[in-house]
Amino acid sequence: MNLILPPQFSNQRSRIREDITQAVGDVPIVRLRRVASVCESRQCYLKLESCNPGGSIKEKNATVLVNQAEEAGLLRAGGTIIESSSGNFGVGLAIVGAARGYRVIIVVDAKTTQAFRRMLKAYGAELAEVSEVDASGSMQKARISLATRLAETIPGGWYPCQHYNPNNPDAHALFTAREVEDAFGSELDALVVGVSTGGQMSGLARYLKPRYPKLRLVGVDVQGSVIFDPAPAPYKMTGIGLSFRPPNLDYQAIDLAYVVPENLAYSMCHALAQREGLLLGSSTGAIVSAGLHLAQQLPPGSRIAMINPDRGDRYLETIYDLDWLQDNGFTLIPAEHMDVAIEQLCSCEAPR
Ligand code: PMP
Repeated sequence: MNLILPPQFSNQRSRIREDITQAVGDVPIVRLRRVASVCESRQCYLKLESCNPGGSIKEKNATVLVNQAEEAGLLRAGGTIIESSSGNFGVGLAIVGAARGYRVIIVVDAKTTQAFRRMLKAYGAELAEVSEVDASGSMQKARISLATRLAETIPGGWYPCQHYNPNNPDAHALFTAREVEDAFGSELDALVVGVSTGGQMSGLARYLKPRYPKLRLVGVDVQGSVIFDPAPAPYKMTGIGLSFRPPNLDYQAIDLAYVVPENLAYSMCHALAQREGLLLGSSTGAIVSAGLHLAQQLPPGSRIAMINPDRGDRYLETIYDLDWLQDNGFTLIPAEHMDVAIEQLCSCEAPR
């Protein structure tokens, strides 16, 4: 039996998994063909982390961090997992908690969609709500302080604290980066990654940079977030974006940064659904917009991989709902105008 190893890297490529946490990872990578004309002359790939069992990349962090906490004795039988999450990491923890018998409490706020709330409850997680808004219109700081308080007061409570836990990137150094290497080896010009806690970017960088120094690492954020641009403004996007600079983000590793307007991101999501058959989450629209802009700048034949963090079904009542878009002041760019819309994006150097 070799099932202790991440299954995709074991010698036995068996399809049988011992539990759901071992079914995480090893997702398909698809080439984009029709969403923009640059896809004809450049090889643009999307790594579908939406194909993880709960629909997102954060199940990888959840599994690895819970494993580490169990090994360190921080989480024991009968324990409670507490986290602040706008969705995917919470769902990841709810999945691992259900599979291993832990109580799970997720701190959410008004931006947490009904779809995420229902999903969390369906997995048996409990929700705790905050409502204090900070200067950028975000409730992230209030969520983190409530999670800290709960972890201090609930006996057997463990708070993975994805924003500050230095092990948050480990899952991506262990799994995601090796999957990228498996698929592309040295035949990759750029890797485009959405940024919030910085877990994906820093983990990928840790493994890939020393091995592939020519690979460009590209970070993507949303307009209004302060990760790359110091001026805060309210935004509706969940998944990427933050109201503070993420301590886990290795800024030095980022070769190029994009700050994408929400309208373009949501338009790209609709274009991906209609032109590629890919119904994906809102951050994917920003990541693909940035990736295709970069593809336009690179020579024909270049290979660009983008990481799709989550599935679109969580967003049917927000970015895939025309009334929600209208009520929030977004006007979709038609799929046939995406080439021009992408061209208008700008990249910048990541701040240090
Ligand atoms: N996109 C989505 C949909 C996410 O849930 C997240 C994680 N919050 C990210 C992108 C960014 O990942 P990270 O936190 O690892 O920077």
